[in-house]
Amino acid sequence: MGYEAVIGLEIHAQLQTRTKLFCACPATFGAEPNTLTCPVCLGLPGALPVLNRRAVEFAIRAAGALGCTVHRESAFDRKSYFYPDLPKGYQITQYTRPLATGGGIETDMPDGVRSVPIRRIHIEEDAGRTVRGPAADRVLLDFNRAGTPLAEIVTEPAISSPAEAVACLKALRQILMYLEVCNGNMEEGSLRCEANVSVRPLGSTEHRPRTEIKNLNSFRFVERAMRIEIDRQVAVYEAGGAIEPRTMCYDENADSVRPTRPKEEAHDYRYVPEPDLQPLRLSDERIAEVAAEQPELPRARRARFETQYGLPRSAAEVLTAERPLADYFEDCVKLWLDPHAVAGWVMTDLLGGLGRDKVPVASCPVTPNNLVSLLKLIHKGEISHAMAREIFAEMYRSGSDAPTIVHEKGLAQVSDAAELRAVVEGIVDANPAQFDKYLAGNEKIIDFFMGELMKATMGRANPAVALEIIKRKLKK
Ligand code: ADP
Ligand code: MG
Ligand code: ZN
Repeated sequence: MGYEAVIGLEIHAQLQTRTKLFCACPATFGAEPNTLTCPVCLGLPGALPVLNRRAVEFAIRAAGALGCTVHRESAFDRKSYFYPDLPKGYQITQYTRPLATGGGIETDMPDGVRSVPIRRIHIEEDAGRTVRGPAADRVLLDFNRAGTPLAEIVTEPAISSPAEAVACLKALRQILMYLEVCNGNMEEGSLRCEANVSVRPLGSTEHRPRTEIKNLNSFRFVERAMRIEIDRQVAVYEAGGAIEPRTMCYDENADSVRPTRPKEEAHDYRYVPEPDLQPLRLSDERIAEVAAEQPELPRARRARFETQYGLPRSAAEVLTAERPLADYFEDCVKLWLDPHAVAGWVMTDLLGGLGRDKVPVASCPVTPNNLVSLLKLIHKGEISHAMAREIFAEMYRSGSDAPTIVHEKGLAQVSDAAELRAVVEGIVDANPAQFDKYLAGNEKIIDFFMGELMKATMGRANPAVALEIIKRKLKK
């Protein structure tokens, strides 16, 4: 019998606010352990939470971009569980009345675009971090992360393969990064995904018991873990067994999915309304205000790049992959209206360098002005394409502009006819056999002479002038 997977994702996105959700401690990653804490995020008795306005704004921005309905009134609840990295013994979250519901994640699937429906988006605080200590029998606790703001985005169980799940997660990550509400870093845990997986007989519409897989800190792990878990569940059913709802954990070293604990039910968490926080009330104006600030989203921007600049889909996709890259491209095009030339340089030499050095576009050593200074020299015929690539590499290394490099390195193109004619004569005299072939009617031989000329001038010959001279010389 055939089976199909049923997958729903729970995605935690750390909201990039300066401070934590309920206190003024910095929400910075990578600081010395336990240096970013206060009575509120340590859960000391009597400390009271104050909601971070910016975190709410970021969550509304995300909800708006995903087409969710942002509710004018939502509320905070306490979710109780006992774990050493949760100092209060409960997490402040939104349970009965989440910030937003509905909407979807527009995802490119093999069979076209589909919107993966969203069940809810709510705001909650993160827990601290448990770190394995140097001694095998100890764990260490770091509370710097305790209380940092998260948006949890929960999809409907409407995804039917690991590949679709990854596509959906990638689309969401791209949107959140465009919105500048989350930095999308999965390794650092700024974007975490839990995958709920069940399988059912092909064609059935039932929802069977599911397991929830945690510790998926890369797209590859998300896909791997789901495949392993789907295979396991199918094997269990095939053997006549049943699936027990469970929380599972992906172990990247063993590349296996292991059960951790039986899955909690909502009543295990003893949700109660948070008495120290007012319900979150938002005016229509405030919701509209945030919506009005939405930047152009990746999908729309890609489509616009195709129509406005006449770029092929693949190029538009590369150039809009990240907002800073799309901005860089458009900054260049504003200065030099040749989108195809700009796209070519950005996608090959620029992205090549940045990828190699693992440098973000934001700290790209070649400014749009400098890249355009190079395009202008090419356009004026002052440098050949080969020279341009060398100059680009130098611009990338030194941060100078193209004219400066041409000047410093004496790279200017040779357009002087007398100088070139002398070189051409030498080449023709040295290659009588090729010359005879040309006389016999082989026009392609011009390319050979051109190649020799470029070699002799180290690529500096002005191609147009050189071609004229070669043709004239061969006619004689
Ligand atoms: P919980 O709070 O118990 O984690 P929810 O019922 O809200 O629960 O669901 C959490 C996630 O599990 C959602 O992403 C949802 O799509 C997914 N899910 C629910 N039922 C199934 C199922 N039968 N198979 C796979 N995923 C499921
Ligand atoms: Mg869950
Ligand atoms: Zn604090």
